[in-house]
Amino acid sequence: MRKLNSLRSIIGGIFFIIAVYGKAQENFAQKIEQTAASSILKYTTEFTDSFGNSAKLPIVIVKGKQQGRILTVLAGVHGYEYPPIMAVQSFLKEVNPEDLKGTIIILPIANTAAFYGRSLFVNPLDGANLNNAFPGKEDGTITQQIAHFITKNIIPPTDVFLDIHGGDASEDLIPFVCYYNHKGKSEATELAKKLSKTSGFANVVSYPYTIEDDEPAKYAFKQAVQDGKVGLSFEAGKLANVQEDAVVLNKNGIYNVLNALDMYTSNFDIPEKLELYDNQVYIKIPATGIFYSDLYAGEPVKKGQKIGVITNEFGELLEKVLAPESGTILYKIGTPPVTKGETLMCIGIPVK
Ligand SMILES: [Zn+2]
Repeated sequence: MRKLNSLRSIIGGIFFIIAVYGKAQENFAQKIEQTAASSILKYTTEFTDSFGNSAKLPIVIVKGKQQGRILTVLAGVHGYEYPPIMAVQSFLKEVNPEDLKGTIIILPIANTAAFYGRSLFVNPLDGANLNNAFPGKEDGTITQQIAHFITKNIIPPTDVFLDIHGGDASEDLIPFVCYYNHKGKSEATELAKKLSKTSGFANVVSYPYTIEDDEPAKYAFKQAVQDGKVGLSFEAGKLANVQEDAVVLNKNGIYNVLNALDMYTSNFDIPEKLELYDNQVYIKIPATGIFYSDLYAGEPVKKGQKIGVITNEFGELLEKVLAPESGTILYKIGTPPVTKGETLMCIGIPVK
């Protein structure tokens, strides 16, 4: 009897998962359709996995007075990156659908489990990084399901996909906007470049796009690019603080993108001089230990320059770290603990 009951509950659980997931799947296209002009729809969908974990995904659809393009704004893929999340909160309070041409889909906190669990990089429910999970998996863990939901439901109706990040709680970072230089999709790339250059960010980074169409995109906005959409990403904020200037930069960036797409009229400053980068070099952490560096994000480094040292717990030198290329530090570990194999620093290489 006990066995039968548990079997019933397992079967019930499976049907429940299918019902919940199916609901999230089929409802989204209808939700956009059904949202009346000049109105805002807010709702929450939920994911449940076979380990008994569940997580909520809040979704907002802002439908403009007139029809137009669809911009998706994704925040909180990393739940410990606060300025993007708080920028979207502030934007939500201000945006007026009466003044909007087109539709804005907003995922204010994509990784609620990481946000409420104050978890660095990963979802504490499954230990997975949502920024590494695309295209996702329909019947996978919570993180894989969220990635799959975004790939199958959010990206298809989207014209322009904006993924907002900052430095995570352990990262020092200089604000920048980035896009993929996808040579096979030149029209989308050109618009991504234009939107990046007019976003209000002074540092504009173009990433080489080197994956095949059947390779996992891993990152949300790279998935959008692979699927033929215009994709770009902001990075502003660092070290688990809500820096007001980073919040404003991210928020004004959303307005600038809307303005450039002729969806919403706004007039925020765009820096006269842009710093352009067309490649980047990542330094992997050579040893687990305690990291010391006098350098900050935004500072220039020369090839061969000592950029820091790593000691063991007794204070004894383990490794000297040298810059492999000349460029500008876009982000780096800004706190003492470092773990072998993780990224220590990203150096942006200026356009020559
Ligand atoms: Zn991030």
